[in-house]
Amino acid sequence: MNCRHCQTPVRLPFLDLGSAPPSNAYLTPAKLSEPELWFPLRVGVCENCWLVQTEDFTRADALFDPDYGYFSAMSESWLRHCERFVGEASDRFGLNGDSRVVEVASNDGYLLQYVQERGIPCLGIEPTHSTAELARNRGIEVVEEFFGRRVGANLARQGWAADLMIANNVLAHVPDINDFVSGFAELLKPSGVASFEFPHLLELVEGCQFDTIYHEHFSYLSLTAVKAIFEANGLRIIDVERLPTHGGSLRIFADRLDGIDRLVSAEVRDLLELEKSAGMTQRAFYEGFQPKAESVKMGFIEFLVDARRKGKRVAGYGAAAKGNTLLNFAGVRGDLIEFVADRSPGKQGKFLPGSRIPIVEESVLLESAPDYVIIFPWNLKDELMSQLEVLRRGGTKLVTAVPGLEIHG
Ligand SMILES: [Zn+2]
Repeated sequence: MNCRHCQTPVRLPFLDLGSAPPSNAYLTPAKLSEPELWFPLRVGVCENCWLVQTEDFTRADALFDPDYGYFSAMSESWLRHCERFVGEASDRFGLNGDSRVVEVASNDGYLLQYVQERGIPCLGIEPTHSTAELARNRGIEVVEEFFGRRVGANLARQGWAADLMIANNVLAHVPDINDFVSGFAELLKPSGVASFEFPHLLELVEGCQFDTIYHEHFSYLSLTAVKAIFEANGLRIIDVERLPTHGGSLRIFADRLDGIDRLVSAEVRDLLELEKSAGMTQRAFYEGFQPKAESVKMGFIEFLVDARRKGKRVAGYGAAAKGNTLLNFAGVRGDLIEFVADRSPGKQGKFLPGSRIPIVEESVLLESAPDYVIIFPWNLKDELMSQLEVLRRGGTKLVTAVPGLEIHG
């Protein structure tokens, strides 16, 4: 296949996870008697622009089935993160009642609610109808579209030319990254700024976070690759921050290449240097990842088999995409993990795709008090460990599998 950005043939393998169903294709009890669609899950690297990308086996529309219920309950720590961001950005860019803020992938309005509270006009863009409706219930205006160049140009003509655009955790999820990015150049005012957050590929590799790879996640991004993509599509990176969210993310600010002159912060140059010295512009950096992921998988399987042999009971917590990638890569089924508890009512009573492990309410987990609980969203480990404190006091041990098996008292 050719690179999603620069069309160079992609020949360097990064990771082969075998095959898996789409990670958000949760199964109802009725679906258990039907076959599931599995797609190869392989990731390669473009040696021209260094964009790490999944092979394009699945159609984007197959991954965006509106029945999947794409929204999920936001964690408290994430909401606080968003509220803080809105406060800081409003001050930094002098936003007021005459400004326009547009968020791409606005979900249920969890972030724009903080913009609205400040009396700043805002618009959400969200392709999933059920999710868009939730934002409208908060009084937020939403356009139900996949964002790109056409939508950006249309909205600019309709008076939504933006002072600030926000796109958190969506850049990696778009199949046509060039069209998506050029939509920002269309919709921003010449003086406008766009903010993006996405997991940092350097952290993915250093933290062996292979379970953040799934079909709906088309790109794995370094600042080096993003800079090339942005500049080819009319944007310029002016600032970057490293954040602890999602196992280590970047927040970048960008403006229009043809817009007003702004200074580019020293952090941009420093981080590009850091990526270069970490080896991210050389093949060897990418070639070593497969054996690391396999080693984590072996440790996870060994733990489960050993617990089973000793007659211990094992359950999971957090029915999110990360867990599905790990479980399907490791070939784990319901004989090794009894059930997975999740707070999201839309998932309870269903089954994980591929592994078909049942999803239950948190109360079932608390009553059942297994010997071990595997916390799949390791990025929320601290928050979830305190949430499950009552189990720990009763003797249940909490376990994380990535970046290596760890049993937390
Ligand atoms: Zn490329």
